[in-house]
Amino acid sequence: MSTPVLQVKDLKRDYHTGGGLFRPARIVHAVKGVNFTLDKGRTLAVVGESGCGKSTLARMITLIDEPTSGDILIDGQAVDARHVTREMRQKVQIVFQNPYGSLNPRQKIGDVLAEPLLLNTDMPKSERQDRARAMLAKVGLAPEHFNRYPHMFSGGQRQRIAIARALMLNPSFLVLDEPVSALDLSVQAQILNLLKDLQDEFGLTYVFISHDLSVVRYIADEVMVMYYGDVVEHDSRDAVFGNPQHSYTRSLFAATPRSDVESIKARLARKAALAI
Ligand code: ADP
Ligand code: MG
Repeated sequence: MSTPVLQVKDLKRDYHTGGGLFRPARIVHAVKGVNFTLDKGRTLAVVGESGCGKSTLARMITLIDEPTSGDILIDGQAVDARHVTREMRQKVQIVFQNPYGSLNPRQKIGDVLAEPLLLNTDMPKSERQDRARAMLAKVGLAPEHFNRYPHMFSGGQRQRIAIARALMLNPSFLVLDEPVSALDLSVQAQILNLLKDLQDEFGLTYVFISHDLSVVRYIADEVMVMYYGDVVEHDSRDAVFGNPQHSYTRSLFAATPRSDVESIKARLARKAALAI
């Protein structure tokens, strides 16, 4: 048995809010004790309604936010939340719903991709640029995109750029927090296929956060369902979709129209055929 890429043990995060003149102090238990183990090359989907703690969990496992308690092990190594090393930070990358917010409008895409290498390695400039060009091709962008600025790209292309940047330092795992939620359906399918292709080629490990069950069904190997900060169900995709155990999971499914990416594609094909 190889070491799991990510182990999370009884992870908790409280937020202290209010405490002003008109807002009484309150503790929000955003994540209440999450446990899981994720092996290399797998995709764990985290699902649940808005506010259930998905992004809080994402920020903790990408070492952006410190847990209130609990343990995180990456490649078998325990993370010391108060003293996160640069090596540890390089192992985890995150892609957000809106990549535009994290792209510097005055930075060319080639420099966006080469920057992690500039900051974290002593690679010479020519090699950094070669690697950036190679990654651009891997995510399905063209060589001439290298010298363009973020505003010149569509939403789907920007998400390709965000994925490319996240992969530049060869991370142990990638957290994708609602990565296709802001995109048109046809573009969603393209990005999901890209993620699958990259996973096959490089053996990537994903934590894929989404409120959209049709997307989850397409991409996930295993599914973890969160409800008010708790994990109420965690099993293989087929088990969770085929035979949901928890009443919350069943109600979540009942609220979702039955569609998956294949049917989205079929619908688009029918629309395109009608338009001719
Ligand atoms: P999700 O991503 O599933 O929508 P979040 O992790 O963003 O959920 O939020 C979980 C809970 O924690 C919510 O009740 C939210 O209001 C609260 N929360 C998240 N971030 C903060 C914060 N920085 N300060 C206070 N409360 C927060
Ligand atoms: Mg969120």
